[in-house]
Amino acid sequence: MKELIALMKKLNIAETESKASMLQQYMDHVLEWNKKVNLTAITDRNAFVQKHFIDSLLCAETLEFTASSLICDVGTGGGFPGVPLAVCYPEKEFILVDSLDKRIRIVNQMCEEIGIANVTAVHGRAEELARKKEYREQFDLCVSRAVANMRVLSEYCLPFVRPGGNFIAYKGADCESEIGDARKAIQLLGGDSVEIRKLPHLDHSLILVSKTGYTPDAYPRKAGTPARKPL
Ligand code: SAM
Repeated sequence: MKELIALMKKLNIAETESKASMLQQYMDHVLEWNKKVNLTAITDRNAFVQKHFIDSLLCAETLEFTASSLICDVGTGGGFPGVPLAVCYPEKEFILVDSLDKRIRIVNQMCEEIGIANVTAVHGRAEELARKKEYREQFDLCVSRAVANMRVLSEYCLPFVRPGGNFIAYKGADCESEIGDARKAIQLLGGDSVEIRKLPHLDHSLILVSKTGYTPDAYPRKAGTPARKPL
């Protein structure tokens, strides 16, 4: 936890100790639930802090995150990166989306028990939720980690983002070719500039995509189509 607290201090996060304690509680709850329901493959506590907490917070340094109030996390699984960001930034509102209802129920229950009030986990496929009025083009920022390649992920995420907002994908070190393949999809969906931010932590990268236009009504296509026939 020492490294996590140091990062939180570097990010100028207020009330570091109490937020770190909330995150510790979250880890305890996830690891307990994980005995019954698969929420994460990472069960070692040090690895959990590194790969779930520190990794999730890496987008917090970007202007795109700082400027956002309403944030969507697509394919959140056990709540990553959404929950650690929500704990550290209680003034921002987070909607966490996942197609597995069991995970969504558990994430909501854990947040309620710990008192993480700025998280709402919503069950559904991104392709379906992004067609609903209350979610479509409503978010300042959409984040996503370990869900799909950029061609597919852009169709899942960009429809949630309002014009003028951003989409941040958490990726590994070698993401250049993935971006090259996704350029057409990003443009088609209303996206504009694409920037890679290489991070020393775990050799990861963030792909930052700005959205300037509206997403045409045809997107996202029917559930399953983006993954089967990527744009
Ligand atoms: N983001 C989390 C993380 O980094 O720990 C979980 C990653 S897990 C490998 C991928 C998650 O994406 C799963 O929980 C899965 O149910 C969800 N998912 C995959 N396709 C989806 C879709 N089309 N809409 C919503 N959730 C989806």
